Amino acid sequence: MRGCRPSRLPGDGPAALPLQPETATPAVHPCMGQPLITLHDKAFRPYLSASEIAQAIDQVAARLNADYAGRRPLFVVVLTGGFMFATDLLKRFTGDCEIVFIRVASYEGTGSTGKVQEIMGLREDISGRDIILVEDIVDTGTTLHHLLPTLEANNPASIEIAAMFYKPASLRYPLTLNYMALEIPNDFVVGYGLDYDGLGRNLPDVYVAA
Ligand code: 5GP
Ligand code: MG
Repeated sequence: MRGCRPSRLPGDGPAALPLQPETATPAVHPCMGQPLITLHDKAFRPYLSASEIAQAIDQVAARLNADYAGRRPLFVVVLTGGFMFATDLLKRFTGDCEIVFIRVASYEGTGSTGKVQEIMGLREDISGRDIILVEDIVDTGTTLHHLLPTLEANNPASIEIAAMFYKPASLRYPLTLNYMALEIPNDFVVGYGLDYDGLGRNLPDVYVAA
């Protein structure tokens, strides 16, 4: 079972914040005093509070503000899951910036290329731009592994990835992940933009399968 809060809080350092295992199985979350929730057929227990999430975003936003001062980045938000993180992150970005939203469709190619990603909604010319790709979660990294070359083919000046959650134990590709807000274990989480079969995206806290 997993802890109810990160073992390191944002003030502890600049890296993404790992969560550590916990031994007990609380029927009621000890940190927030909230009961289990049910989405479709599954029970979930509270895992991270909205205030813990907000603190982690403060840290990422502070680093982006420093690193992108005077650069006018283009935030490219990957829908659907990235919408809530993008909203909170962008409110904290103090410099000039632009925002676009994309969707990614994946399908198996018929040839030797394997999995192909199609980007929908990117009408802007990104050549010469500083791109910050905004994702809900980096899990295996498969999505980004296929998406990044497609973006790079359009000759941006730079591409960085900002994600609310990152599961280091799941990562299968060598990605440069400089702006991860929170590291989490390899568990299925819902809330804060993330869904279980369509439900749960609206929850301000994050829950894990009970
Ligand atoms: P990838 O494995 O390509 O890094 O992640 C692909 C997508 O899987 C993520 O963008 C997210 O939509 C979904 N995903 C990965 N882990 C989780 C999780 O713990 N919960 C939910 N709801 N979706 C996840
Ligand atoms: Mg995603």
